[in-house]
Amino acid sequence: MTKRNTKAKQLILNLLKAAKSALSQDILQAQLGDAVDRVTIYRVLNSFLEDGVVHKIVGDDGKQYFACCKNCSDKKYQHNHFHFRCISCGKIECLPNEVEVKLPKAYRTLNFNGVVSGYCSNC
Ligand SMILES: [Zn+2]
Ligand SMILES: [Zn+2]
Ligand SMILES: [Zn+2]
Repeated sequence: MTKRNTKAKQLILNLLKAAKSALSQDILQAQLGDAVDRVTIYRVLNSFLEDGVVHKIVGDDGKQYFACCKNCSDKKYQHNHFHFRCISCGKIECLPNEVEVKLPKAYRTLNFNGVVSGYCSNC
């Protein structure tokens, strides 16, 4: 990646870490303003996904959200938790409880997309 992308990576990672909730590409774009263009955000998010830095959540509103990973690396992903989407403030959070999904023999989980919606503690 170029030097410009390195800076974009840092900016986007800072936003995701500060948010403590999942952010959509639109939210990131709005917060970054002109600092980073749309294509770069898309590329950075995809490289974060591959490196186990973030994981993707598809909300029950059909939008994609990205949240920081806790225990992932580029070798091993661990996304065994539900997400909560508040229908009032729109926030998407990772729920701390791990969920075990029983799969047939020789199947391997790479991604787990579970979203619970309702009202968060602030709403
Ligand atoms: Zn992850
Ligand atoms: Zn809320
Ligand atoms: Zn999560």
